[in-house]
Amino acid sequence: MPRVILFVLALILPFGAFAVEQENCVAEADRDWVHNNFTITNNDPGLVFDLCAKNSYTALLQGLVFLREFPQKEWTVDQFDQNILPSDLFDFFKTRIARIEFTPAGGEFCPEGAMLGIHKDDYGAIRVCPRASDLDGFTAASALLHESRHSDGKGRYFHTNCHHGRFGGAHGNTSRSCDSHLGFKGAYAVGLEFYVKTYRTESFSPALRQRARSLAIIDLIEHFQNPPLGIGKGYLLQAESGEVSFFRPDLEELSPLGSAGNKLVRFFQEPMPSLVLASRYFVPTMYDKASGMVKDCFSPSVCEADAAGMVAQEFREQSRAKRAEFLDVAYSTPNMINYTCLLYANSMDCTRSDGQAKVSVDLSALRPEKFIHANGTGWIKNDVLFLLDQDGYAYKMPATFAALEAERAASLVKEEELLGFRSMAGVSSRREMVLSWTGDLLYYEVFEDRLVRVPQAAGLKFRTFLGPVYWSPALDEL
Ligand SMILES: [Zn+2]
Repeated sequence: MPRVILFVLALILPFGAFAVEQENCVAEADRDWVHNNFTITNNDPGLVFDLCAKNSYTALLQGLVFLREFPQKEWTVDQFDQNILPSDLFDFFKTRIARIEFTPAGGEFCPEGAMLGIHKDDYGAIRVCPRASDLDGFTAASALLHESRHSDGKGRYFHTNCHHGRFGGAHGNTSRSCDSHLGFKGAYAVGLEFYVKTYRTESFSPALRQRARSLAIIDLIEHFQNPPLGIGKGYLLQAESGEVSFFRPDLEELSPLGSAGNKLVRFFQEPMPSLVLASRYFVPTMYDKASGMVKDCFSPSVCEADAAGMVAQEFREQSRAKRAEFLDVAYSTPNMINYTCLLYANSMDCTRSDGQAKVSVDLSALRPEKFIHANGTGWIKNDVLFLLDQDGYAYKMPATFAALEAERAASLVKEEELLGFRSMAGVSSRREMVLSWTGDLLYYEVFEDRLVRVPQAAGLKFRTFLGPVYWSPALDEL
């Protein structure tokens, strides 16, 4: 039996950084309805049951109201929706959870980062931590369904360690943030299903539906130890023409993104060369220099709203002239950097990961090409972020925002050896992949010490590749 004290929901970082303000007070009738349905205890001296505050109490009320108001219908089972949830989502929660306890931060119930959870000795109660104040009605509803699934079978739906992606051990995070597989129908499968049903409900706003779809895809990619739908490790290739493909070296498959040709890119306004690709925690994100749009929805179907999050917001708010010089983005990751940077032709604008401090670094002494990082090759060190210059030399970026802020460009350390390639990634122990400065995609055969063309990319010229990202063409079907 694994030692599980609390099922901590960690889904909110950092994709959940939506900075939702409390705009309206919760209705007294909704409060009364919640208190009539559950036994509610406030053990948190710092928490006031104020219907107009933005705190864990209003987040919980809004989450329960969201479940109650969710349009009911009979759902059809398919590869994205196993129909674990009944048409009445509130009923799913209510039949499992009788008590709600607001709990102070720290200690056994609310360790750092915890928003809400279920204790292994008390499956009928939800513990709500102060950090749940970051949730809005939609994300709170998802968290409540997820946690209530843990009460089924008295902990039958334990989490297990992830083997890949942001929560895989390679990046220092061995938290139990995965279910074994989608068919296990665990708590992540329940949360995923809620996102899918939200995405497929036409009465919701396009912005909410896009958010739900993005979260569904992220769950599919990140939260199953055995990823479903053929999801696997690959690389995004962007051709000189701007078209984007997904390349799986292990399967020797090169697939255009979008199930009907290149829908993904077609969605962006012309011209396509204005598209810049980035990998956000192993998930592809696209920046359009021309329009200022940032997309992580990976499909044209309902992506009418822009991606949320502070980096996307900053990019959108830049002047058109500055956006035209945009080159790349680097996101903070555990063990690498604690800040995020938008890279331009002559500068980079960096923000500490808590969003509370910014620095603009003058790079006019360089000719930046892009960031490269953590690709596990003989050339590039793991868990180090580099800035690649067009002269072929890489500059090591400082690990901390404090060093970057104090020393600016002087905190970048030039590598002694010329790098020689524009992109590189380790794809297996015996083979690495590189992009030449002339746009050719090549394998470096480590043991033979030689370069050979990637057969699937023969005759094609690429502007960039990035990865690893986890993806499957089947995700386009959602
Ligand atoms: Zn859980």
